[in-house]
Amino acid sequence: MTHQQFMASPANRARYWARSFYGWPRFSATRPNAAHVALAELEQRGWISGLITQNVDRLHSAAGSRNVLELHGTSHEVVCLGCGRRTARADMQRALADLNPAAAAHLATLLTRPADPAAEREQALRVGTSRDNIRVAASASSSGVAAGSQSGAAASGPATAGPAGSTVVPLQRPDGDVELVDAGRGFTVPPCGNCGGVLKPDVVFFGDNIPQERKDRASQLASSCDALVVVGSSVMVYSAFRLVEEAKRAGARLVMVNVGPTRADKLADAKVEARAGEVLTRLARHPQLLLPKIN
Ligand SMILES: [Zn+2]
Repeated sequence: MTHQQFMASPANRARYWARSFYGWPRFSATRPNAAHVALAELEQRGWISGLITQNVDRLHSAAGSRNVLELHGTSHEVVCLGCGRRTARADMQRALADLNPAAAAHLATLLTRPADPAAEREQALRVGTSRDNIRVAASASSSGVAAGSQSGAAASGPATAGPAGSTVVPLQRPDGDVELVDAGRGFTVPPCGNCGGVLKPDVVFFGDNIPQERKDRASQLASSCDALVVVGSSVMVYSAFRLVEEAKRAGARLVMVNVGPTRADKLADAKVEARAGEVLTRLARHPQLLLPKIN
């Protein structure tokens, strides 16, 4: 969803938050990988002075990195577009669960099963549509909020009692447009508790701008380093490529660690075509930075 779409209507925001509500438990349970851990170790050893990330998952901080600049914000915080107050995304999850008990009950059942990311993504995309496993929406014509179908298959016929004593709404197969229009309908999103304003994850959406102050800090970091190591990014996004240019212009050496071509390959002093986790773990275990010269 673009920033413009998010801002356009309460219905779009309901759709966004409904999907986010379903995705959050697994998203927030993700643990740092070998590359995150190695980068944190390199910082603790004083080999890395700062880290700029395009990721919004906060896993660098979870791994122990301290000087982290989240260029595109973070999914772990929610910001009010009215008064600017920041709150924890975990609190938003609780508020959404309280306001949407049927969706919360359904999510709880999903979470008792082994992770099935594909199925969960499907479900999240269907929230509030007539192909939803549950109907979080109570439309004017229906008798109320329903929850419970576990099959996910299209059913027909009269409504039947679901596992929680709720009603299973017969599922239909509408065309894609109807589905899009319907998505998130009936999902209730709370306003800011402070000013009643619109709540948005503190993430830079497409069509949104990186706050100037954050841009400036990133530029400062890039243009004051001896070397810039780009890890696991093709730096195709200009906000990231710009930092590479700034570092080079200020005289820094550039090392790319990435599988596949990057936008900065021509500027690189060295390129390591390998998985970040493997390369950085070895580097973090090396006792010093002065590697023997290879002839
Ligand atoms: Zn507010």
